[in-house]
Amino acid sequence: MANSPATTADRRHAAAKRYIYAWGGGSAEGNGKMKDLLGGKGAGLAEMTLAGLPTPPGFTITTEACNDYFANGRQLPEGLWDDVLVAMNEVEERSGKSFGDAANPLLVSVRSGAKFSMPGMMDTVLNLGLNEETLRGLISLTGNDRFGWDAYRRFIAMFGRIVMGVDGAAFDEPLEEAKAVHGANAKDTDLTVDDLKGLVETYKGVVREATGREFPTDPYEQLDLAIKAVFASWFGKRANDYRNSQKIPHDLGTAVNVVTMVFGNMGDDSGTGVAFTRDPNTGENVLYGEYLTNAQGEDVVAGIRTAPKIAQMEQDMPAVYAEFQRIGQQLEQHYRNVQDLEFTIERGRLYMLQTRDAKRTAAAAVRIAVDMVSEGLISKEEAVARIEPAQVDQLLRDTFDPGALKDAQKIVNGLNASPGAAVGRAVFDADDAVAWAERGEKVILVRIETSPDDFHGMAISQGIITARGGATSHAAVVARQIGKPCVAGSSDLVVDYAGKQAHCSVTGIEFKQGDWVSLDGSSGALYLGALPTVSARFEEQPELQQVLGWADEIRRLGVWTNADKPEEAAQARAYGAQGIGLCRTEHMFREGERLEIVRGAILVANVATRAKAKASAGEPLSGEEQAAVETFDAAMAKLEQLQQGDFEGIFKAMDGLPVVVRLIDPPLHEFLPNLEEQLVKVTRAEDAGGASEEDKELLATIKSMHEQNPMLGLRGCRLGLMIPDFVKVQTRAILNAQIAVKQAGGHPIAKIMIPLVGHVNELAATRKLLEAEAEAVRQAAGGIEVDYKFGTMIEVPRGALTAGEIAREASFFSFGTNDLTQMTFGYSRDDAEGGFLLKYVEEGILPVNPFQTLDDAVAGLMRIAVEKGRATRPDIELGICGEHGGDPDSIHKCERIGLDYVSCSPYRVPVARLAAAQAVLVNAAENDR
Ligand code: PEP
Ligand code: MG
Repeated sequence: MANSPATTADRRHAAAKRYIYAWGGGSAEGNGKMKDLLGGKGAGLAEMTLAGLPTPPGFTITTEACNDYFANGRQLPEGLWDDVLVAMNEVEERSGKSFGDAANPLLVSVRSGAKFSMPGMMDTVLNLGLNEETLRGLISLTGNDRFGWDAYRRFIAMFGRIVMGVDGAAFDEPLEEAKAVHGANAKDTDLTVDDLKGLVETYKGVVREATGREFPTDPYEQLDLAIKAVFASWFGKRANDYRNSQKIPHDLGTAVNVVTMVFGNMGDDSGTGVAFTRDPNTGENVLYGEYLTNAQGEDVVAGIRTAPKIAQMEQDMPAVYAEFQRIGQQLEQHYRNVQDLEFTIERGRLYMLQTRDAKRTAAAAVRIAVDMVSEGLISKEEAVARIEPAQVDQLLRDTFDPGALKDAQKIVNGLNASPGAAVGRAVFDADDAVAWAERGEKVILVRIETSPDDFHGMAISQGIITARGGATSHAAVVARQIGKPCVAGSSDLVVDYAGKQAHCSVTGIEFKQGDWVSLDGSSGALYLGALPTVSARFEEQPELQQVLGWADEIRRLGVWTNADKPEEAAQARAYGAQGIGLCRTEHMFREGERLEIVRGAILVANVATRAKAKASAGEPLSGEEQAAVETFDAAMAKLEQLQQGDFEGIFKAMDGLPVVVRLIDPPLHEFLPNLEEQLVKVTRAEDAGGASEEDKELLATIKSMHEQNPMLGLRGCRLGLMIPDFVKVQTRAILNAQIAVKQAGGHPIAKIMIPLVGHVNELAATRKLLEAEAEAVRQAAGGIEVDYKFGTMIEVPRGALTAGEIAREASFFSFGTNDLTQMTFGYSRDDAEGGFLLKYVEEGILPVNPFQTLDDAVAGLMRIAVEKGRATRPDIELGICGEHGGDPDSIHKCERIGLDYVSCSPYRVPVARLAAAQAVLVNAAENDR
């Protein structure tokens, strides 16, 4: 493919579209805003050049060219190659070197770079343009034989692996053998020129054997193949998996950056490094990173040599360090965000290779946002917008119980690369991690170092530990990003992949595959056994509270909680909940002695209810009926007393805030033993000589209550209408609790909610029952005001569609989107998620799991209900209490629908506060457009 480059006089024009944007010599054709087209790296290089920073000249081939390449059946779009040749010519002019020239060779790197950072997921080739002739030129220009041969052997291995598809191990093995000659702990830098020459020959042989062809020597052929390989890496398995996990669309494509090589391995006045303008673990405002003298970029990133901290550079090269620090600050001010920088120093001269917004831990994200607001760099709104809801979630994650840590047996220490506590069983490779996790096991991935090929295993593990690599190694960067605890560079850890075991070289403590280990990513330690964890303390995170305080100023939606116990209510309140949006009374039925009481009532409920109806019609009751009524009333009275105590606790915990208490919802048989179990018990007892009357009676009752579709059966308001005592008893318990708390000086705000209403008449009839009971309580209250609001859940499609009628009877609606989703899709909420639904989501039949994120059609029903409800009753209060109330995407939909509040589980309250504010910001930004 020996193409000769076109002359620079011919400007690029061959391709139908503009596929190439160049930079260098202080000017750039692109800029930082063009990430869609140039990818993050290309846009960053253009922007840095425009800002007058030292960048090596180069050009970007656009993401559009990548998409057209695939659309074209993996052919470069027409004219693109000609434009590449012209662009190379410009790079030659700007660098003063010539591509393929034996006397003054230009070498380039060919780097991937998508719109969103995908660290290590796609391919990059360095030192491209080397062959036997250009190598001679490189050596004579630098006067450094070793450097030249080292660059050449690296190039052949990298190009062979990435572009020609040769297995990387085929290059690693000869390298390890060559090093072994110099001793057990020999480093790359111990290799002599002769060793390197030998390696080059061996590597060429490896390529020949694996591919059946010679290693390409024509630099333009190398370039052509490398560009195509980078395009192809967009659809590589690693990149695909990564995009799936990060929800990055597959149709963005990657740009390709062709950049003049600068060498960090030209001697002790050269070096290379990766740094962040602030500490990405803690957010502290200090330059953070690593650097190596006399090394190439991948040495730092891959953690092959454990790099010293960036501060060392201040000692080694004070002037360059000062310049680098100034540039870091300039870039941070420019982008108004923490930057992740890659740089190389070639013979004392600094080059910036990359800048991008830095990935950071949740704790760092919050601290940086708060600091940047106080520095005047960003607004409060920007601070709120920058925190991801998942990061808030992470900050509420567990740590190890300090008491247990004291006695724990530590295996090794390492770098605290990504915080958090993780407990799991040790596995030693990514595929094992996946296999164990699929069996329902929690695992900790233990590796010497990780590479992008390990991503699937990292994603499924509870935590990751590596023996090698630093804070910017692959393991550390990826773990932080996906929010997994990680300990990196644990140099005493000796990992034996073949034996699937590891030990500490100092103490000899060992563990093998399947053993429980506990990993502390915050302190950087690995312990034997499964240690107990404690939940993260919100109260000790003032910066998080600060950001959430700003979110509260911005958001319109109220954030309430679903809580059934005083402790949960108190926890939610501490997290900022403004009320209880759902107290499921039946949850109180299941605890301790209560279940027996409830069972006692259920067993006679039907007989007693019928008997009571007879009695009120003046008909006489049989002895059996009379007994059933007495048993039932006694059980219900006990229940009433217990529930009143519960409600008092909840009212106290939420003093001054609204508490929505929902009357009993699930079908009664849920409180009885399982039908099959009882059947087996009775049958066995019969076989053994006879079952007890009690057991037989219980079996008969369970059978009589059995329904084919209990979710569509006697539950919710239907149950309350069939057995009105449930409504009466619960109403009395709620209102008497209110009276008691008021008497004690509290401010209980009660709302009573009726579930599963599909027809207005259901609600009207329930209301009548309830009001009569409330009136009786009021009469007996001795002057204490009894006040409550009466409302309903909207969770049946018919209820949503007739919300205008229903609003005549209800002063508030709360959307029960669990049931509303179930009934809108016709999917059983108890079965679907364990069955076909996962497959549906995996295969893209559904975009998301509708039980997690509000489906648009369900949201459409909510919208109808909101409109109709408000038309009947303009001041109707509208909330959501299904699981979606704590899901950020669903909260955005609730904002758009115009609800008044969302209600979610206590631990999601902080996330919901943030998401509700972000929903306002997103809407405002959309309206501005
Ligand atoms: C709902 O259906 O969304 C709801 C909150 O009620 P439950 O989950 O108790 O049925
Ligand atoms: Mg429901």
